[in-house]
Amino acid sequence: MTLIQVTTTILICWMIFIIAWERISPYRKGLPFFREGFWIDLVWYTLIQSYFLKIIIFDYIIYPLQHHLAWQGFQFFKDLPIAAQVLFFLVTHDLYIYLFHRLQHASKFLWRTHEAHHSGKEVDFLAGSRSHVVEIIINQTIEFAPIVLMGADPAVIPIKALLDAMFGMYIHANINVKMGKLKYFLNSPELHLWHHANYIEVFHANFSTKFSVWDYMFKTAYDPGKKPGDLPENWGLHYEYPRDYFLQHAFSVKRFDEQKLLKYSWFKHYYNLRPNALKQLKRVFGKKEATVLNMPAVEAPEPELIVNDAR
Ligand SMILES: [Zn+2]
Ligand SMILES: [Zn+2]
Repeated sequence: MTLIQVTTTILICWMIFIIAWERISPYRKGLPFFREGFWIDLVWYTLIQSYFLKIIIFDYIIYPLQHHLAWQGFQFFKDLPIAAQVLFFLVTHDLYIYLFHRLQHASKFLWRTHEAHHSGKEVDFLAGSRSHVVEIIINQTIEFAPIVLMGADPAVIPIKALLDAMFGMYIHANINVKMGKLKYFLNSPELHLWHHANYIEVFHANFSTKFSVWDYMFKTAYDPGKKPGDLPENWGLHYEYPRDYFLQHAFSVKRFDEQKLLKYSWFKHYYNLRPNALKQLKRVFGKKEATVLNMPAVEAPEPELIVNDAR
């Protein structure tokens, strides 16, 4: 088994474990599995975007940079065990991401690269995948370039990527977890779900990703404790945000009203592509099922012009 196969297997098992945990002990009760934005997070952000960004970041930025610099890297990592190398990059990158995340909330310009991550009103294990293209390119280049350029063991990359994905799922998971004293060191949904709530006092708090110690150290922790019923009620952004993947990226460049754009026929056509495709699918499969059951086909109700939760 190759290392990639091992990390992929661990990640799948972790995902199943987190999904089960969400069902058994939810933070917000009644949050559906196919919640608002589920498909956009899975199909666009998790599968398509990450596939293409991996190619851009490694093949078009990091490896050309390595080739251009013709740099052999430090010999510093040569005799260090892989676990120590992973730990080194884990801690240094996590401090960087804390500081950059904090800057994104403080700067109006950088906020445009981060608002997508806060746009979901129903946060679960998959919600962490929603990140603007520019945010990923900056953060992952800064994450992985030093690993390559400083001559660390190549195994550090998949191990670090696995830990990123596991932590990303965990801190966004809709699970009711009590970390005890460990919460002062390791991040968890207990703190990060508050970061996704729509309250002024949490907009500049709980910036940590893996190690919550940064928030406690720099006094940005918002930790109201865990009294019964002490959960955020308002989630996501305080302003309207597009539901479509491409519009979300366009919105970061120029503000517009998604609904007003529907007066343009080309836009209406694009916007309804997916609902119309679904309608066609329902027609095809609806008829098939009806034939099998030897019953008259029941026409699926017309989808609304502007649907929908799954966009
Ligand atoms: Zn944030
Ligand atoms: Zn988050």
